[in-house]
Amino acid sequence: RQGALLGPAEIRDLAGRLGVRPTKTLGQNFVHDGGTVRKIVRAANLRGGERVVEIGPGLGSLTLGLLDAGASVVAVEIDPVLAAQIPLTVAAHVPGADVEVVHADAMDVTELPGDPPTALVANLPYNVAVPILLNFLERFPSLERVLVMVQAEVADRIAAKPGSKVYGIPSVKAAWYADARRSLPISRNVFWPVPNVDSALVALERRDPPPTTAHREAVFRVIDAAFAQRRKTLRAALSGLAGSGAAAEEALRAAGVDPGARGETLTVEEFARIAEHLA
Ligand code: SAM
Repeated sequence: RQGALLGPAEIRDLAGRLGVRPTKTLGQNFVHDGGTVRKIVRAANLRGGERVVEIGPGLGSLTLGLLDAGASVVAVEIDPVLAAQIPLTVAAHVPGADVEVVHADAMDVTELPGDPPTALVANLPYNVAVPILLNFLERFPSLERVLVMVQAEVADRIAAKPGSKVYGIPSVKAAWYADARRSLPISRNVFWPVPNVDSALVALERRDPPPTTAHREAVFRVIDAAFAQRRKTLRAALSGLAGSGAAAEEALRAAGVDPGARGETLTVEEFARIAEHLA
């Protein structure tokens, strides 16, 4: 059942009428496959009537799927033409649905209209997917769950665990807020235009941040420093932050971390302990 959803003909027609020429800089690849939209909505596991924030609704493919599933949606779109069109598309496909559109850069959004959202569901613009995800987790504590589509490699990085080859800054910072797991792969062929990478869904469930007396900013500075020089030992990588190699070594030992280890083996709890002892 295509139902409320947009298929290839509708996407082409809508883009043509609006004069939309998708740009790479804004990561504009639109899903034109109702089956994929239904998969994403199912994976999001929404509760009835849940308040969802969507970033980058584009032509409305996923927005319609979320509304059709009974969600109430607040959508943040940077493109003025797309932002203005969403309410009209929604009225035509899911009459009476509850949608609000914020025309803004998601990176600048610090508040949202209406009830606080409990879920973030989005097909994120690829070049800013990680900063947008982390910003929203930080700024909207009401968010309990996240399901986002990102480039497949980025999905792996966000969900990676310590010791994995792709474990890095996105993995540790995401772990500060949530337990992340890679969900379904999504073929590049469900998009118009077809991107040159494959995608995947990542699901995140909010958790309590590690117990620490250090502030999040301080912990994130340690994470950034540790991975800025991936091949160096923590003692060397953190010597700048600590003031000297000896000071870094002392903080690492106090935190119970081997100064000869590398950042890619540490949990977010260990990074938090190091930040505490550097303070
Ligand atoms: N959700 C639609 C879909 O699945 O077909 C479109 C997804 S497309 C990958 C990304 C969308 O994010 C585009 O509509 C683009 O204009 C929008 N976008 C890009 N950068 C943005 C930003 N910084 N803030 C808000 N929206 C942004």
